Amino acid sequence: MKKFVTMLLALVMVLSLAACGGSDGLTVEKGKLHMSTNAEFPPYEMVTNDGGFEGIDVEVAGLIAEKMGLELVVDDMGFDAALLAVQNGQSDIAMAGITVNEERLAVMDFTDSYATGVQVVIVKEGSEVTMDNLGDYTIGTQLGTTGYIYASDTPENGGYGEDHVIGYETGAVAVQALVSGQVDAVIIDNLPAQSYVEANAAAGLTILEGTWVEENYAIGVKKGNEELLNAVNGALNELKADGTFQGIVDKYITAD
Ligand code: GLN
Repeated sequence: MKKFVTMLLALVMVLSLAACGGSDGLTVEKGKLHMSTNAEFPPYEMVTNDGGFEGIDVEVAGLIAEKMGLELVVDDMGFDAALLAVQNGQSDIAMAGITVNEERLAVMDFTDSYATGVQVVIVKEGSEVTMDNLGDYTIGTQLGTTGYIYASDTPENGGYGEDHVIGYETGAVAVQALVSGQVDAVIIDNLPAQSYVEANAAAGLTILEGTWVEENYAIGVKKGNEELLNAVNGALNELKADGTFQGIVDKYITAD
């Protein structure tokens, strides 16, 4: 009987260790801070030529990890998957220029906001599409993003209806659809929009005057993991307070 109890205790210990991941229990993997992202969102996250990752989110996450005594691991996946990964406990933080909204607040926690994103509309130069007649055209967006959510909403709620919106796997693919004429406009966050317009200069793209919706970006953390949320938030706020954060933003926004 005693032996059985000992075995049972050992099993319980093994199982609880497995449930916590790292022996410190704070992160998914001991000594690491896993960040799930979709590395196709310049200048926040992108893949480098040698297959590494860079961008504002990547650098900030690296410094947050450092402050926590952890090593950053970037897990690149689809945007929806990046949000799910923190909810399912497969990653510690999700950073992907993620807009805080009510639906997401219901399923995950967020740090304080670290940037403002503005949804803008990309069209072809000389196009007849305007901010006011957008609903008469076909709009490309990235699936699962706020651009998709707003645009596909009903007209009563300020959207254009699902029939007018095509959701693509990535923002880059949505922009290619605009270049090839499959859609008449793309709704996407302003900084990636500028970057896509520059990258497709030969196609003659332009961003319409005026902004569509303004949003706040924050870091997503699994709901209820207050210790992790506080640690990440504390590190983020230190980076903001001492100017390090702004230095990173300036580097990516002025560097071309
Ligand atoms: N900010 C937008 C959102 O959260 C888009 C983010 C993205 O495409 N990476 O939905």
